[in-house]
Amino acid sequence: MPPARPRLVIKYGGTTISSASRILSVSEYLAGMSKRYGLVVVCSAVGNTTDDLVRISELMRAGDRAGVSELVRKVAGLHHDMSGELVADHTKLEELRGSLDAAFGELQSLIDGLLLLGEETPRSRDYLLSFGERFSVMLLAAALRRYGVDAVGLSGREAGILTDSRFGGSKPLMDTTRLRVSKTLGDMLERNVVPVVGGYSGADQHDRITTFGRGGSDYTATIVGSCIGAEQIWLMGNVDGMMTADPDMVPDARVLEEISYAEAVEMSMFGSKQLHSRTFEPVLDGDTPLRIRSSSNVSNEGTLVVPSGRAKNTIKCVSMMRGNGLIDIRGFGMVGAPGTAAGIFGTLAERGISVMMISQNPSESSITIVLKKADLYRAADALEAEHHGRTIKRLDLTLDVAIVALIGEGLRGTVGTASRVFAAVSGRGINVAMITQGSSELNLAFVVRDADAEAAVRALHKEFGLAA
Ligand code: ASP
Ligand code: MG
Repeated sequence: MPPARPRLVIKYGGTTISSASRILSVSEYLAGMSKRYGLVVVCSAVGNTTDDLVRISELMRAGDRAGVSELVRKVAGLHHDMSGELVADHTKLEELRGSLDAAFGELQSLIDGLLLLGEETPRSRDYLLSFGERFSVMLLAAALRRYGVDAVGLSGREAGILTDSRFGGSKPLMDTTRLRVSKTLGDMLERNVVPVVGGYSGADQHDRITTFGRGGSDYTATIVGSCIGAEQIWLMGNVDGMMTADPDMVPDARVLEEISYAEAVEMSMFGSKQLHSRTFEPVLDGDTPLRIRSSSNVSNEGTLVVPSGRAKNTIKCVSMMRGNGLIDIRGFGMVGAPGTAAGIFGTLAERGISVMMISQNPSESSITIVLKKADLYRAADALEAEHHGRTIKRLDLTLDVAIVALIGEGLRGTVGTASRVFAAVSGRGINVAMITQGSSELNLAFVVRDADAEAAVRALHKEFGLAA
């Protein structure tokens, strides 16, 4: 028997397959790669299809039947048109359209059923949102066949991904998933078939469709990669890799050659390259290198993500997140009163408001939190209603703040970094409203006014020589 070829998982994000011409160029590239590797392709939904499905579920909730039909028609039309551009052969096109129509029929029945019941549950929502990847794998597999690749489209469930039943944010049950996925995909690879697996979803023990949460196709890629013993996993997007800063803000920002898993997790919270937060979980114990690279600029190898001990111990990038608000909570009633913080965060948690940064001064007379601007007034109202006059005396809101973060393993245990950061920022006359550094010491974050954020990013990029 000839030696097995090295296995490679390549994942394509929604923008990289948002048009027929993009799908064709991706397919041509993959056809070449399939000669050298045992290839598994994972893909997101085409373009903004998942956003459209989210919108459909919102319109259903609002009882807007006309709006729902219009959007379903738009999504169906897009896929129908793309199929025509992807497949030239008449019989094969009929076949592809037959499969697409069947899936759209299923989607339509689901929508009709839900409208009839006037009911939406996390379970039905996951089922609905999973359709984007049902459609996209059909298109990509058909395009690959046009380039002579024996490709087969599969959903996460069909590939063998078994998850818990937490709809909207499920996790794979790895032992069973490993057995099933390695068998299903391994058999296909042995027959020289290229599996095209839809990202983002799997199924629970009762065979109900679950999703991993938005952006979950990255997670599918690492789950699959770990199960089949991939030599590498590549996440293809529309940027060249992880960068030292946003190039729109910092002209001499550059692509990072190598970062650690832990750094990648910190970075993925910010910036243009968003990754699903659990992306690295399946590969944490192993040593599968992961690359973040561009689908259109394949001569650039992108950013290699490696286990933490192996990456260079330096500062990697400066990131920024706009559009946040800050609440300063004060009151001497908070001093030495156990449970104050629990009360405050409990109130916010009950309303599904998530807090991005927290700091409390040691006298315990104030707690400052940063949240999304959209949650700011809701949070303040809730805190006022439940705690004002008791523990809390005053709430001060600051609108339009940005979080700026310096990220890198090099922050760990390096004396003097904080003073360099604040000297660089204050040297530009920028006021810092709040500072946090987690115990991981991978991320030094601080808050400034939105208007000052770009200047702060540029100052730090320069101070730490990140362009070099
Ligand atoms: N299509 C899903 C989303 O847009 C999953 C993904 O793109 O990774 O969130
Ligand atoms: Mg997407």
